[in-house]
Amino acid sequence: MKKIQMVDLKGQYNGIKDVVNPSIQEVIENTSFINGPKVHEFQKNLEQYLGVKHVIPCANGTDALQIAMMGLGLKPGDEVITADFTFAATVEVIALLQLTPVLVDVNEDDFNINIEAIKKAITPKTKAIVPVHLFGQCANMEAIMQIAEEHNLFVIEDNAQAIGASYKYKDGNNVKAGAIGHVASTSFFPSKNLGCYGDGGAIFTNNDDLAHTIRGIVNHGMYERYHHDVVGVNSRLDSIQAAVLDAKLPHLDTYNKARQNAAKKYNKAFEGHDHVIIPKIARVCSEICDTSCDCHVFHQYTLRIKGVDRDALAKHLNEQNIPCGVYYPIPLHNQKAYRDERYNEDDFKVTNQLVKEVISLPMHTELDDEQIEYITSTIIKFING
Ligand SMILES: *Cc1c(COP(=O)(O)O)cnc(C)c1O
Repeated sequence: MKKIQMVDLKGQYNGIKDVVNPSIQEVIENTSFINGPKVHEFQKNLEQYLGVKHVIPCANGTDALQIAMMGLGLKPGDEVITADFTFAATVEVIALLQLTPVLVDVNEDDFNINIEAIKKAITPKTKAIVPVHLFGQCANMEAIMQIAEEHNLFVIEDNAQAIGASYKYKDGNNVKAGAIGHVASTSFFPSKNLGCYGDGGAIFTNNDDLAHTIRGIVNHGMYERYHHDVVGVNSRLDSIQAAVLDAKLPHLDTYNKARQNAAKKYNKAFEGHDHVIIPKIARVCSEICDTSCDCHVFHQYTLRIKGVDRDALAKHLNEQNIPCGVYYPIPLHNQKAYRDERYNEDDFKVTNQLVKEVISLPMHTELDDEQIEYITSTIIKFING
C-alpha cells in the first residue's frame, strides 16, 4: 500500500507535470515574474469558470479577505459577524483592520454559520457578515443574503475551502461558491482544492466599482502610476503561481470529483456504525444528491466521534501511520487573541461540542481504495473496542 498522506501533492503533480513544467518554464524564459501575461490569462479563465465578472488575484487568502474588507470601506468600530468555528485568518483580518469581530455559533450538521445566531448578533453597528464555506460546502447563502438585504449589510464569502462548489437556490438557480455575496475571497495555498506551489489568493466580485477600488488597493492604492489615492497594500499573485494555477484549473472539477468519490467510499464504510457521524450535506441540490454533485467539494472529510475518546482515536491512527487532523481544536472565542468579555459560553454550545468531536481524515485527489479500506477498518476496529 502507498504511504497514506493527509494530502498527496506529489501524486497530483506527477499527473500534470507535462503541462505544469513547460508553463513554469515559459514564465522563466519570459522573465515576466510579476504581473506577467499568465496572471491575466488565469484571471480571465477563473472569471469564466466561476461565472463572476471580476477576479482580482492577490498574494494569499488572508490578504484576499483583508483587501475585500478594505475595498468595502469598513471603518474601525464597525462590527463584522463571522463563525466561531473556522480558521483564524477570518477573524484575524477583522481585528487587524480594527473592526470588531462578532463571533457566532455554527450548525452541528454542516459546521457552517448559524442563521439564528447571526440574527441575534446584529446591532446598529453591524456592517458585514463573513460566512465561511467550511470544509467544502456553502453556508446557507440564501438566508444570509436576505438578512443582509434587510439590515443593509455586506456579505463577504470566505471561499478558501469551497472553490468549485455550487450553491443551489430554492428556485433552482445554480451559482458557484464565491459568486453569491457582494465580494468573496479564496486561497490557493497548496493543500486547498485549487492549490498552487507557494502562496496565492484571489478576490471575486460582480461589482465593477468595487473591483476597480480593489485593483488599486492590491497595488499600493495606485489607480494611476505614482498617484496614491488610498492606503493600499502590496499583494500580488506571482506569474509562476499563476502558471501553475492556469494549468490546474481545467482539472479542478475532476479533482473535486475524486474527493467526492473518496467521501462516498468513506460514507459507505461508516454506514450503520454507532459513535461515528458522517459529514452531512445540508441542502441537497436534487433528490438524487449523494455527494456526487458539486454542492460539497470535500476540502476536508470530517467525522464527528460520539461516545469514544476522539483524541485517543487520533493517537491510535497516527500510530497506525494514518495521518489525521483536528480542524479546529479550540473555538475562536476562546483563543487568547480573540477573547471578549461580551461573549457568553451559552451562545457557543455547538462549537464547544464540535471541537471535542471532530476529526478530519486524509482527503485528496490521489486516495485509492486500498488506503480507504485500511483507514476505515482501522477506525471501525478502534471504536468497536
Ligand atoms: C486557508 C484559509 C484561509 C487563508 O488562506 P491563506 O492563503 O493561507 O492566507 C482563510 N480562511 C479559511 C477558511 C482558510 O481555510
